[in-house]
Amino acid sequence: MAQQLSLRQKLEILADAAKYDASCASSGTAKKNSVGGKGVGSTEGMGICHAYAPDGRCISLLKILLTNHCIFDCHYCINRKSSNVARARFTPQEVADLTLSFYRRNYIEGLFLSSGIVKSANHTMDQLIEAARILREEHDFRGYIHLKTIPEADAELIHEAGLYADRVSINVELPTDSGLTRLAPDKNARQIEGAMDRTKSRILQAKDERKRFRHAPRFAPAGQSTQMIVGADGASDVDIMGRASALYGNFGLRRVYYSAFSPIPDASAVLPLKRPPLIREHRLYQSDWLMRFYGYAPGEVAQAAEADGNLPLDIDPKLAWALKFRERFPVDVNRASREELLRVPGLGTKAVAKILAARRHRTLRLDDLARLTQSIAKVRPFLVAADWRPTRLTDRADLRSLLAPRQEQLELF
Ligand code: SF4
Repeated sequence: MAQQLSLRQKLEILADAAKYDASCASSGTAKKNSVGGKGVGSTEGMGICHAYAPDGRCISLLKILLTNHCIFDCHYCINRKSSNVARARFTPQEVADLTLSFYRRNYIEGLFLSSGIVKSANHTMDQLIEAARILREEHDFRGYIHLKTIPEADAELIHEAGLYADRVSINVELPTDSGLTRLAPDKNARQIEGAMDRTKSRILQAKDERKRFRHAPRFAPAGQSTQMIVGADGASDVDIMGRASALYGNFGLRRVYYSAFSPIPDASAVLPLKRPPLIREHRLYQSDWLMRFYGYAPGEVAQAAEADGNLPLDIDPKLAWALKFRERFPVDVNRASREELLRVPGLGTKAVAKILAARRHRTLRLDDLARLTQSIAKVRPFLVAADWRPTRLTDRADLRSLLAPRQEQLELF
């Protein structure tokens, strides 16, 4: 049936099927020269995913599946073999042709290619690699390529994928092994971690070789990432943060993506009927940032959670932590270390850098802070400045309600 579909029909099916994967941000890759035609850019089109790099750049990727046929039966996945959806399949040549034509029209800067498992993990991996090979070797394509790899495939195939891709990713899918066993019975947590471990070693080895030999081949220069589905099993935020921290530590991941489970059409009966609130996903991303950029140990971020192991939804985890550990505040903006300032709710890494630079030249007052931060009301209870001391404000019993934003607002640090 798939062969009778036009390329456009396949694109409709396989771009739509790819939208459930969140792990396509394309930050951190090596800079390359652009090839391809000139023309007027467009933000429209099927399968074009707008990913945001940490520096705020918006990058357009053609985000598609090679096929949504799958021999596995993961309960949370719309493409599982028991799902009653329209199926389609691209050939590697079609993927390459589509990518090139979108790239030449300036619609996209790269390709995010994932796939259901068709025939076998090795066969599927072969096809994914072939699409990337055609692009790189036959067309000298220098745009960004993110390949989703299949942990059940042979190690050598995953290695080959990394030679063509800027980034590779292997989804851990669920935060706990028990969740994986229950909801993705064909998958194996040890196999997934084994593939991540080998990928990490290859990335490090390639980096080392390139230091010694300028022309040594690159291997996934933008690193590896993974995705966890939130809310499909009973894992708490503390479980999820613990898993994420172990993944960063053990496998040197560039990013862990959190994807709030969304009930899919024709859903399996073992899944929750409702999706978790989107703000939960946002709170997990904030906790992830606390661990990666703010110097919080995983156990400290977990201390921000409520008794049920979940982060509060009404306030961000940094504020939740500060409210629990008020004895650590206020800190003196003119004397505190960078690490202490990074713990102040309302101060982001950029504001802290500006404070450290400004205080070399003058003693900072509350007005100075108001100019350097976005929310002086949030900062005031936790800081001492030349003309400001919060006195009893830091210890007020109702401080949380004073600082909690209105429900519909998503505050940044
Ligand atoms: S292996 Fe991937 S595509 Fe197949 S059912 Fe599981 S999650 Fe879906």
